[in-house]
Amino acid sequence: MIALDNHPSGRHFLQIPGPSPVPDRILRAISLPTIDHRGPEFATLGKKVIGGLQQVFQTRHPVVVYPASGTGAWEAALVNVMSPGDHVLMFETGHFATLWQKMARRLGLEPEFLTLEGTDETGLPRSWRHGVQADLIEQRLRQDTTHHIKAVCVVHNETSTGVTSDIAAVRRAIDAAGHPALLMVDTISGLASADYRHDEWGVDVTVSGSQKGLMLPPGISFNAVSPKALEVAKTARLPKAFWAWDEIIEMNQGGYWPYTPSTNLLYGLSEALDMVLEQGLPVIFARHQRWGRGVRAAVQAWGLPTQCADARVHSPVLTGVITPQGVDADALRRLIHQRFDLSLGAGLGKLRGRMFRIGHLGDCNDLTLMAALTGIEMGFKLAGVPVAGSGVLAAMAYFAQTPAVDAA
Ligand SMILES: *Cc1c(COP(=O)(O)O)cnc(C)c1O
Repeated sequence: MIALDNHPSGRHFLQIPGPSPVPDRILRAISLPTIDHRGPEFATLGKKVIGGLQQVFQTRHPVVVYPASGTGAWEAALVNVMSPGDHVLMFETGHFATLWQKMARRLGLEPEFLTLEGTDETGLPRSWRHGVQADLIEQRLRQDTTHHIKAVCVVHNETSTGVTSDIAAVRRAIDAAGHPALLMVDTISGLASADYRHDEWGVDVTVSGSQKGLMLPPGISFNAVSPKALEVAKTARLPKAFWAWDEIIEMNQGGYWPYTPSTNLLYGLSEALDMVLEQGLPVIFARHQRWGRGVRAAVQAWGLPTQCADARVHSPVLTGVITPQGVDADALRRLIHQRFDLSLGAGLGKLRGRMFRIGHLGDCNDLTLMAALTGIEMGFKLAGVPVAGSGVLAAMAYFAQTPAVDAA
């Protein structure tokens, strides 16, 4: 047999910001026998997961589930509401925003990519260290008096950088400009770990995925859809068949899909939703904020900058760490993986080799994070990277002094 699980002893430390570790409870649910996707038991499962997803997205409107990775749900969002040549306004927050923009172009749309120009003292692009600038969006929309722009597309939790964006501020910017554009948001890595409110924030289409904050394996993804987006979809002219919302939403009324859904991943989703809703979203959001603060205490003690340069928008689910000039972050990650069986996220796109990412989302606790920080600190020592002080001690002090909100 090919050794796919090549970890000699103990658990692998999967500390990348997605896929995140899958709890045993979810793995057991996924291992149940596959059932008839047209049978009566399935309808109960289908209705339950859609209802639970609505609670997690904080919406009263439809949530569509696709058997696809997050990239599929990105495409679904665009093809359902756009027509060939439509102008969309996007914001360069990092690698994922860049990829969504490239996809829009490949689909025959005309994306305009707003950015913060230039680099800062780290030599890295400023736009990749800050969140969406709602005032720039407002300015641009005010100039668009003919309403040429059909949608504003932004990434809520930019997984390539560890920066979140203020989605409510983007909504206010669109409204202040009196512009009818749809608001489309990617929260693939934020959902169920970082605060997100589809209805309250006036989002028209929210895109998300399974393998990050929701603690599932990769393979299913979501579109939460507002009534306005459903209306626009009726006349939008990009070709859509597999991704079309209308047939899926209609079949979902009875708890079914127009094709074979990922039955076993839906078992896992049902279990994940139970876990999330039993604990309550506010407890989960606070827990991730606290982990973020503990990890940042370590990074600060090392004397290294976080990729996020704005203290108001640190991501609660991952932290990007910029390595000193001349230190190859990828070589450091390889060493840490080899020696300690700990996986860290790579610097993507424009950040390649300059930073690494620590995931603190989904199924972790203080001690898994302490272990990850220890592995990193040992890696720094082995690689001869001088750090200012002990991040492990700083994080230990933070976690010990700051009880978790749900601590008994
Ligand atoms: C992971 C991720 C994606 C891509 O999702 P896949 O499941 O890899 O297709 C897109 N956007 C963000 C913000 C992500 O974190």
